[in-house]
Amino acid sequence: MSKSCRKQRSRAVAPSTSKWVTRHVAHAFLVRADAALYNGILASQDPDSGMMTYFQATRPGYVKLYCTPTDSFWCCTGSGMENHAKYGDSIYFHDHQTLYVNLFIASELTWPEQNLRLTQSTRFPDEDSIRLSIHLPKPTRLRLLIRQPAWCPRAAVSVNGRRSVERKPSTYVEIDRVWKDGDVVDVQLDMQLRLEPLPETPQIAAVLFGPIVLAARLGGAGLPHGADMIVNERMSGEILDLPIKIPRLALTPGNLRERVRRNAASELSFSVRALEHDQPLELRPYHRIAHERYNLYWPIES
Ligand SMILES: [Zn+2]
Repeated sequence: MSKSCRKQRSRAVAPSTSKWVTRHVAHAFLVRADAALYNGILASQDPDSGMMTYFQATRPGYVKLYCTPTDSFWCCTGSGMENHAKYGDSIYFHDHQTLYVNLFIASELTWPEQNLRLTQSTRFPDEDSIRLSIHLPKPTRLRLLIRQPAWCPRAAVSVNGRRSVERKPSTYVEIDRVWKDGDVVDVQLDMQLRLEPLPETPQIAAVLFGPIVLAARLGGAGLPHGADMIVNERMSGEILDLPIKIPRLALTPGNLRERVRRNAASELSFSVRALEHDQPLELRPYHRIAHERYNLYWPIES
């Protein structure tokens, strides 16, 4: 299970802007940043009512349970609301001459000391491309460090159309130059399907695409409208407690990319055929699952 107040504490130690930040320190803070952001924080709010989870179950076939607007206020209701105000807080770091681009979130940065305005345009994680546009009143020498996350084996980076390919995950791609107004940096990240095993348990794993955990949609059996908004969080293990049969996917590290297929290039939706079903099962980002049963972890065949 995952509690949103714990996600908040783990993010709170990251420096937002710091004079002493180095690339190693910055990367170490951000190792799990995408995972916490998308699979924890973004997943914790009901997109329809705006209510928060107390915890998110990894129990097979369970549902997300949310607080009510007026009759429940748990510790994760408060931190769960505050979390969503922090999406901007670690996208960029800087020291006096270096700008770190850490997270891929559409945003605009103003850096008054360098007279820099930088626009980041992206639909990440639905798309794997990011464009950084530089606005400067006069040419300025700056070091731009773009994070290549651990999940990204290859990043293609181009400056004004001149392309290079980097194969150094878990570090930053460095561009040190005199920047001019109108310069454009395009980044393409290699997002791939992969299995991430439970700690110490290689035979049970979740399916991820880049940093995004994919969940199988298992339908709304025994889940009438509104039944997933509850008052007492201590009852949460007993509510909507239906026995449910979890389909078998028979995944292996070797057959993953053949068995799991992307449905459309424009959004993150995948199909996989379970052993006992004729119809394919849909896998979609866990942060987009609400009001339905889901499964996250699968036995991995050897
Ligand atoms: Zn809490």
